[in-house]
Amino acid sequence: MKLVFLGTSGSFPSKDKMCPAILVEDNFLIDCGEGAVHRLLNLNANLDEIESVFISHIHADHISSLPMLLWTMWLQGRKSKLTIIGPPNIQEVTESLLQLMGTSPKRFSFTIQYKKINGSEDLGEFAVLPVKHGVPTFAIKIGDKFVYTSDTAPYESLINFAKNCKLLAHETTFPDEMKEEAHIHYHSSPSDAATIASKANVETLLLFHIPPPFQNLEEKFIEQAKKYFNGKVFSAKDLQIIRI
Ligand SMILES: [Zn+2]
Ligand SMILES: [Zn+2]
Repeated sequence: MKLVFLGTSGSFPSKDKMCPAILVEDNFLIDCGEGAVHRLLNLNANLDEIESVFISHIHADHISSLPMLLWTMWLQGRKSKLTIIGPPNIQEVTESLLQLMGTSPKRFSFTIQYKKINGSEDLGEFAVLPVKHGVPTFAIKIGDKFVYTSDTAPYESLINFAKNCKLLAHETTFPDEMKEEAHIHYHSSPSDAATIASKANVETLLLFHIPPPFQNLEEKFIEQAKKYFNGKVFSAKDLQIIRI
């Protein structure tokens, strides 16, 4: 399985890191945060190959590039259907964003099919799990290899969900010394992520969604996680390609 980490920052972008977006096998996009379209162009990706977009939750850092992605696909003359998967209000939000920006999706050269997620679901190629965040938010598992938690406070159900997977991309928005603040804001720290990774017996832990104020502390985040997890721990760079 090929994963391209298009955007690896959390909460807001920095000079070097865009907001969450991960391209799976060139045809499935997980989240579409600020900068995702630009990163796809950096990659010389063919947008026609993207068949589905999964939006984990409706926060700006995870959805702000979606209207521009749809505009770009339209202006490039896309003909094939696009599926957008997301929380129950995904269609309403996407259509409202487009309307507010002066474009009815009816003008598009392609159709959009929506798949609304209400709870835990196993959809064959991928499974979703509601996690603990301020708005309805879903973790996703692709095959039995890759799990992306999206934004969440530490959540026990992720242990079973990620059991024995190869790569767990777990959010770490605050360092361990700000753990209380992390939990108040429904986020996690490195030791939270590492505890889940250890109990789930995953092979590798990716510390994801580190926001700009802490991006100079990435090595410290990794050290904090390693105290609680014996496997490999790393933090990704934008456009990093990983094969699992
Ligand atoms: Zn976020
Ligand atoms: Zn969020």
